[in-house]
Amino acid sequence: MKYILAIDAGTTSSRAILFDHQGNQKAVGQHEFPQYFPQESWVEHDANEIWETQLKAIREVIATNSVSTEAIAAMGITNQRETTIIWDRATGEPVHKAIVWQDRRTASICKALNAHAETFLNKTGLVLDAYFSGTKIKWILDSDPNIRKRAEAGELAFGTVDSWLIWKLTDGKIHTTDVTNASRTLLYNIHNLQWDEELLNLLDIPAALLPKVVSSSEVVGETSAELFGTAIPISGIAGDQQAALFGQLCLHPGDVKNTYGTGCFCIMNTGEKAVASKNKMLTTIGWQRNGKTFYALEGSVFIAGALVQWLRDQLQLISSAPEIEALAKSVEHNGGVTFIPALSGLGAPYWDPEVTGAIMGITRGTEKGHIARAALEAIALRSRDIIIEMQKDAGVEFSSLKVDGGATENNLLMQIQADLLKKQVIRPKTTETTALGAAFFAGLAVGFWKDENELQTIWKEDRVFSPEENMHTERCLALWEKRVTKILS
Ligand code: ADP
Repeated sequence: MKYILAIDAGTTSSRAILFDHQGNQKAVGQHEFPQYFPQESWVEHDANEIWETQLKAIREVIATNSVSTEAIAAMGITNQRETTIIWDRATGEPVHKAIVWQDRRTASICKALNAHAETFLNKTGLVLDAYFSGTKIKWILDSDPNIRKRAEAGELAFGTVDSWLIWKLTDGKIHTTDVTNASRTLLYNIHNLQWDEELLNLLDIPAALLPKVVSSSEVVGETSAELFGTAIPISGIAGDQQAALFGQLCLHPGDVKNTYGTGCFCIMNTGEKAVASKNKMLTTIGWQRNGKTFYALEGSVFIAGALVQWLRDQLQLISSAPEIEALAKSVEHNGGVTFIPALSGLGAPYWDPEVTGAIMGITRGTEKGHIARAALEAIALRSRDIIIEMQKDAGVEFSSLKVDGGATENNLLMQIQADLLKKQVIRPKTTETTALGAAFFAGLAVGFWKDENELQTIWKEDRVFSPEENMHTERCLALWEKRVTKILS
């Protein structure tokens, strides 16, 4: 057996990636699918289009590389989380479009249930928000009495994208999800590891809809033989951020990874204990393997790479995102400029949705380069805010930060991050850490890799950014703290 096939079912595209025994990426198949915006703040996908593009991506990656399916030891799945699909168990047809994690239509349902927010938080580790699957399921059931009746009669199935794809891959034989995806539904008690009756009652969701919950790394079944010639075992499942945490080998309490894309997604391993945050960060399941459940704290920055896009598209300060590095390097320091990146409020740990952005400290000497540099610092400062708070919540000191995502190509940004955290920032060779995590889960379950020690031997660093002491960093931090306080007051 030569390969593990990772399925990366993302928000805008379906991808299939083959990894070899050394964790090298051998080939990628990728197909985008349409996004539907039927009303303001609504976002939908067509579940059949997710399936068709996924199938195409898998077939493509196998065919274009002339890989025999017999050479594939197992398949692992990672997915956009929270996106909600309900389908008919008999026909396999969805009863509604998939409601995507970004969709805000259920904000009013959350508001109406606000008196129970603490119950949801205590049991699920989540804030009661439209982001998660629970209220999306309720919305679909409430949208049509016939759908509700069929759900109560056990004729329908709910699943996140992992569940849906496994159902399709196994020709309707298996209805399952893993603990990480279950932990994003608002229905799953992350402490006793059960679907929770009280929460199901609060949201008026029949238990008959729900998938069986399995660990992130075990054989759950095999693909139906007609699909790819030979049946392939399915043996790894995890939501995208959790898969990336494992793909970055953040295996110990305090290990933390940050993904720098449009926003930043930061997640810290807290070990076998669920830690409640004092700063409204989410408590979630990191993964479950060999009977052990690892928990994590998760926090996000809404505007990160988006700040670079704003400088490119709105101010036309640069013509492409990577250009910001050279521009920021054209000056030695920020020249006293601070960029408050509150383009859509400020999230954790400030939680002020109304505050707007600002560029502060401008003088006659301010150049474009200073603004570019302040923008990169803003991305690193917001990430620092979150990581420092997580460290306090978790009560463990982190030793280094693992990074991935498009903006990590920016060496200056990575160096600024290391300087601000006073910790090493480690960028891996494989940038596809999410898919790699799914492959690791799948490969461990079938003995393709023996254990985590073996994974450590194949995981390769691209570059380590070591913190350098300099007075500009201290000044940047002092100005940031003063000015954020000012803008929030
Ligand atoms: P997403 O998955 O959110 O689409 P990606 O991981 O593809 O994000 O990263 C794209 C984001 O990273 C964009 O917001 C872009 O502005 C930013 N970006 C890309 N390259 C650089 C760079 N060299 N320096 C800073 N930001 C960058």
